[in-house]
Order: sequence, then C-alpha cells, then structure tokens
Amino acid sequence: MAVNPAGVERAAVPGGNARRLALILFGPPGSGKGTQSKILVERLGIPQISTGDMLREEIRRGSAIGRSIEERMKSGLLVSDDLVNRLVAERLRQPDTAGGFILDGYPRTRQQAEVLLGLLAPAGWTAVVIHLVVNYNIIIGRISGRRQCPQCGTLYNDTSRPPRVPGQCDRDGEALVVRDDDRESVVRERLDAYRQQTQPLIEFFRQSDDVLYELDASQDPPAVLAEKILGLLPVKKV
Ligand code: ADP
Repeated sequence: MAVNPAGVERAAVPGGNARRLALILFGPPGSGKGTQSKILVERLGIPQISTGDMLREEIRRGSAIGRSIEERMKSGLLVSDDLVNRLVAERLRQPDTAGGFILDGYPRTRQQAEVLLGLLAPAGWTAVVIHLVVNYNIIIGRISGRRQCPQCGTLYNDTSRPPRVPGQCDRDGEALVVRDDDRESVVRERLDAYRQQTQPLIEFFRQSDDVLYELDASQDPPAVLAEKILGLLPVKKV
C-alpha cells in the first residue's frame, strides 16, 4: 500500500477509476468524517454511507434491534460487527452506490475491514482510505460544541459552524439536538473504543493492496480540508 504521511500532493492510484471509487473516511470521533462526507457527496456526486446514521435510523424505528443498538451507543461502545456488516452489505446492493461511495465510520474493527475488503476487491473497487489525524484536545473541544439536525443530519458547532438562527437547522428549521453520546463521559468511552479497536486498522490498511493517505485534520476549515482530499483522489470533480 502507498502511504503518504500528511501528504497533500496528487498521487496516482493503481487501477484507479473515477467510476469505482470506494472512499473510506477514517479517524477518531470528532475528526470531521461526517462533515467531510457531506462536502464530498456534493463534489463527487456519490452517496455517503454512514454506519452511525444508519444505526440511529434503526433506533428511531423502535425495533428490538434498535433498542439494543441504543444501549451500546449510549455507553460509547461499538455495535456488533455482524449487525453493522449486514447493514453495509445491504446498503451496497442499492443501485446508487454503483458509481462509487463514501464510507463514514466503517470499517471500525479488524473483522469489519476484512469483510469489507472481501466485498470490494473481487468486484474491482479501488479502496482509498483517508485517515483524518486530529489530536485529543481538539476532539474534545469539537464534540462538546456539536449540535445536529435530527431531520437531515447536518452538523453544526457552537464555535466553528454556528447555524444562522441559534438552535435551528439552516436547511429545514428543525430544532438542533445534542446527540446522547456526545456527553463528555461517553466521548471518552468512544475514544477508548477507537484507540483499542479502530486505530489498529491503520496497520491493517498499510499491509493491504489499497491506498492510505494521512492528513492533518486539526487546523484547516472544512472546505480547505475537502480540497486537499479531492486533490488526492483519482476522480473528476463535479
Ligand atoms: P463518531 O465517528 O463521531 O463516533 P458515529 O455516528 O460514526 O460517530 O458513531 C456513533 C456510534 O455508532 C459509535 O460510538 C458506535 O456505537 C456506533 N457505530 C457507528 N459505526 C459503527 C461501526 N462501524 N461499528 C460498530 N459500531 C458503530
């Protein structure tokens, strides 16, 4: 795998093809995966697949599975691999993913990564992993000011991205909410889960045939960071 530490220059992706890009946004909670995904969806014209959003949708449906997911999420723990793998596999069967997609928050464990690469490699996908590197203090600061629209999922931040009208979504006027798992004690659990179960995947990606870039995601405003990501991809911008 080609590794480009903190690199921002354009690089050729072996076998890269604009129509078959599986972009994996990887990084700790608060690294900006969701925000970047939303910008990149617009620029690349491919859908975002956020396992966090899919799991929250299951909770909203109020099913028995939804209730067990809620317990895990509220404690900052990962949901079971089997469940998440199943949700992603189903989502990837939808036709809108045929031209490429952005994975946000998946894979998060070794088992998930193996299942995903097992799906992608034989089908000829180019997986590009973008690791958003952010330090711990910045993460805590970002998450503690975070608000989300329960309707459309748009993310806001009290300091870095306030809504035009305080407490209201710019897009649909819904009242913004703090996610249950954004409370500080839960954030610490989520960071522990990241360190123990997710971070080791960086080594796994380094050993695989796919492409991994590491980008410093602490300083740049979201639009600037998105340009850096786009500059790394073997795709045409829209
Ligand atoms: P963040 O990246 O900021 O933690 P997400 O919305 O991606 O936010 O995830 C929220 C929670 O959803 C996680 O703490 C975990 O409980 C669950 N979750 C999301 N994606 C996965 C996954 N791939 N595997 C297991 N659990 C997941």
